[in-house]
Amino acid sequence: MRLEKVETAIVGAGLSGLVSARSLVSRRESVKLFEARDRVGGRILSLSGAVSHDIRYDLGPAWVWPHNARMLKLVADLDLPLMRQHSAGRLVFQDQNGLIRRDLDFATMGEALRLPGGLARLTDKLAADLPAGAVLLEHAVTGLDVSEDGILLTGSAADGAFGFLADRVVLAMPPRLVSARIRFRPALPEGFSKMLDAVPTWMAGHAKFVAIYERAFWRDLGLSGDAISHRGPLFEIHDASPDVDASREAALFGFVAPGRGGSDGDDEPLERDAVAHLVELFGPEAAHPVRVHLVNWAKQPETATSLDVPDLSVHPRYRQIGLDADPWQGRVLFSGTETAPENGGFLEGALEAAERI
Ligand SMILES: Cc1cc2nc3c(=O)[nH]c(=O)nc-3n(C[C@H](O)[C@H](O)[C@H](O)COP(=O)(O)OP(=O)(O)OC[C@H]3O[C@@H](n4cnc5c(N)ncnc54)[C@H](O)[C@@H]3O)c2cc1C
Repeated sequence: MRLEKVETAIVGAGLSGLVSARSLVSRRESVKLFEARDRVGGRILSLSGAVSHDIRYDLGPAWVWPHNARMLKLVADLDLPLMRQHSAGRLVFQDQNGLIRRDLDFATMGEALRLPGGLARLTDKLAADLPAGAVLLEHAVTGLDVSEDGILLTGSAADGAFGFLADRVVLAMPPRLVSARIRFRPALPEGFSKMLDAVPTWMAGHAKFVAIYERAFWRDLGLSGDAISHRGPLFEIHDASPDVDASREAALFGFVAPGRGGSDGDDEPLERDAVAHLVELFGPEAAHPVRVHLVNWAKQPETATSLDVPDLSVHPRYRQIGLDADPWQGRVLFSGTETAPENGGFLEGALEAAERI
């Protein structure tokens, strides 16, 4: 096997890995970005709408908040727009017995901002701006070995096994996945893998559902599209229409309640139940979406492990992860949002971690 050399190898082409690569490339370092999936973006995933190709819906993150200074700057640097999360109108509330109230005049995410056309516009643009050949898709890294010439990254790609030599490696992926998917030689210090296993991957156990409609009929009823349900299968719902006025097409999205995502391969029953739930909450017009999308992140091995079960009661406390032991010290760096002390778990945390790296 011929070994290509690179100064920095970044494992994971999610937001954190892409931004780290952008920064290193701007300093004229040679960089390769290894990505297990056949696309960039990681947990950022925008799937197509019903009418225009430029309309996509976020099945991963959608929101940026006004205090996310790094995200606001990145969006502006890439010359991309933001719009306010639609929140005008009343909220629908359903208690655990199914009783529904539609008279509540408040919004739960009124401050949030969204990128029209989906957040993947941002990660697609970051990837497109990198030098040709810098991003290697379908390159899952499975081994890191210290050798005389550097760190040997090995793994499997669509066209067979690969090997690269790097001066240093940035692991821009959830710590739990590092522990579950990558074999280190020599082995990591005792207890280190256990510590990685204990870091929850934010939202990895969750599923998100989007129903696309010809028009935002709920707005005609004076409803914002916000709903909270203690019954499920959706527990929190919002308007996901691609434009402020929802003139081209409209959508609602919902987070699937913990334990209702199902672990087998069949999404259809859940999709049916989710549409029926929207009918209960928003009325009969909800019965006829032109298209639905469901993404169960817990089923995706590039995001979740069996340790990731949804728990919304508390946002985990994240902290930096350092590998101080030789021979790894200074040569393998942990990045990704789960290593950001201030904004860990969020998009802003992915940038905070990249900034530190
Ligand atoms: C449903 C959902 C809703 C969310 N909503 C919001 C929101 O509204 N606002 C917000 O701020 N945050 C939200 N988040 C969190 C947000 O998505 C993350 O903070 C952010 O995307 C993390 O980026 P990252 O680059 O650190 O990690 P990831 O996006 O997880 O990137 C890691 C990358 O590593 C790759 N990878 C994994 N293993 C390997 C391997 N062995 N070899 C090579 N590549 C590998 C993965 O494929 C992936 O591309 C949400 C997340 C989900 C799932």
